[in-house]
Amino acid sequence: MKKIAILGSTGSIGTQTLDVVREQGDISVAALAAGSNIALLEQQIREFHPRLVAVWDKKKAEELKIKTADLSVEILDGMDGLLAVAQIPEAEILVTAIVGMLGIRPTIAAIRAGKDIALANKETLVTAGHLIMPMAEENHVSILPVDSEHSAIFQSLNGERHNKIHKILLTASGGPFRGKTREELKDVTVEDALKHPNWSMGRKITVDSATLVNKGLEVMEAKWLFDVELSQIQVVVQPQSVIHSMVEYEDGAIIAELGTADMRLPIQYALYYPDRRPLSGERLDFYKLGQITFERPDTDTFRGLALAYRAMEQGGNVPTAFNAANERAVAKFLNHEIRFLEIPEIIGACMEHCNYVKNPSVEEILDTERAAYEYIEGRW
Ligand code: NAD
Ligand code: MG
Repeated sequence: MKKIAILGSTGSIGTQTLDVVREQGDISVAALAAGSNIALLEQQIREFHPRLVAVWDKKKAEELKIKTADLSVEILDGMDGLLAVAQIPEAEILVTAIVGMLGIRPTIAAIRAGKDIALANKETLVTAGHLIMPMAEENHVSILPVDSEHSAIFQSLNGERHNKIHKILLTASGGPFRGKTREELKDVTVEDALKHPNWSMGRKITVDSATLVNKGLEVMEAKWLFDVELSQIQVVVQPQSVIHSMVEYEDGAIIAELGTADMRLPIQYALYYPDRRPLSGERLDFYKLGQITFERPDTDTFRGLALAYRAMEQGGNVPTAFNAANERAVAKFLNHEIRFLEIPEIIGACMEHCNYVKNPSVEEILDTERAAYEYIEGRW
């Protein structure tokens, strides 16, 4: 039996991971971690019987202890809880389905403990990819992509490992505001931004998809995962989200993975790699689909994507400044404190203000995050 632990079990990726576990029936869940949704956590504990559970919020952790007093589950809180879940000896794979660069320390702890990583938490790779990828190699652990685009690329590389990648074609839906002008984006609301045309996801990544910052994060994620030059990653808007991404080889052949917009497929692929398993749900019907269309991304309107390329070109701790600024800006937008177009404005300002560090340590990455938060506070 495969044994896994999940960081972020109550979220969009976390619950779909547990859907896969339920459907397949041959994975055991050693540990779970989540932020504060203890009602759902309690259900998950009763269904999947993890030995260890971490709740970020200390008070909620205490409440959960009382609710599960009849069970033999250990409950921890805070960063210590996340680190314990990440390193639990029973698990072979850690699914990182937590949001944000908070995932850095637990992901590193898991790699050092020899766990394979089923990676959804792209913010960790964006900010600490230069530390994580070599560390994974040293510890002989695999980083298995869960992000649908990266899973598609991973699948398109099957049996081609010795062949050089000419180009990665990273597809994008374009989000809910595709085709809009900056003028039209001035007054869009949180509700508008949360209406993604194709995917149902957590709130933060849904806003990131509306700004195209998500695609920027994914460009950086692809660079670390597949060790290519930035100039080899081309974003292609494909509004139907049928092609999940493609790899072009030196001879011009392009290999792609296509399917419905169902995150359970990349999650399951990461958990069982290199095997495929049956999966319930709708299948792609080309007769119904009719057409697949393509566009160039509008980086003048959606500055977040252009800024991501710039952040990665500058390297060092600039991607951290980009990401930290975005995390705080999105939280403020969701809280109705700033307007939509202020998100890329804040990112750009934090990148300019960033104190450059060439090869940042974890401490320096976290310092850069703090500095970005301090810079934003009071200005927006
Ligand atoms: P979500 O908001 O739905 O879920 C986040 C999870 O993290 C929840 O379980 C929450 O409790 C937990 N969490 C938040 N703060 C925490 C804390 N301080 N301590 C412990 N747990 C905490 O988010 P999501 O959409 O599932 O996204 C998770 C990650 O996966 C993100 O990095 C996102 O970019 C990536 N991703 C998501 C999708 C998707 O379809 N949802 C697709 C690709 C990549
Ligand atoms: Mg994606």
